Amino acid sequence: MPSLFERLSDKKGKDLRVLGDFIAIYCREHHQAEAKAPFPIKDDRLRSALGDKSLVLCQDCSRLFNHGTAKLLLCPYDPKPKCKDCETHCYAPGYREKVREVMKFSGQYLIKRGRLDLLAHYLF
Ligand code: SF4
Ligand SMILES: [Zn+2]
Repeated sequence: MPSLFERLSDKKGKDLRVLGDFIAIYCREHHQAEAKAPFPIKDDRLRSALGDKSLVLCQDCSRLFNHGTAKLLLCPYDPKPKCKDCETHCYAPGYREKVREVMKFSGQYLIKRGRLDLLAHYLF
């Protein structure tokens, strides 16, 4: 059982930030009519990875982010591969497809808006 204060690798921390930002873009563009609330951060490693970033998400997107962060925090690989290239596929059925949809949408959203600087920041 990892300590609550275990430092995450840079890669895991970055993957958590990208996941949060991409889900937030997706939620903002798809779920305008849904009630939203700040995502409650209960894990110190997640708090340390996200810094003072506040993610305001609908219930479904909160659930997705919660699932994704749990999987990333428990990921046994070090260094961690990209989830899309991983053979373990630890996400529960339904979540993996949803995360792929979210990452694809938000990546294309940034490209269409000429935010290649941001995309590069996320990917490299
Ligand atoms: S899919 Fe693979 S790389 Fe991604 S969190 Fe799960 S075990 Fe780790
Ligand atoms: Zn949402």
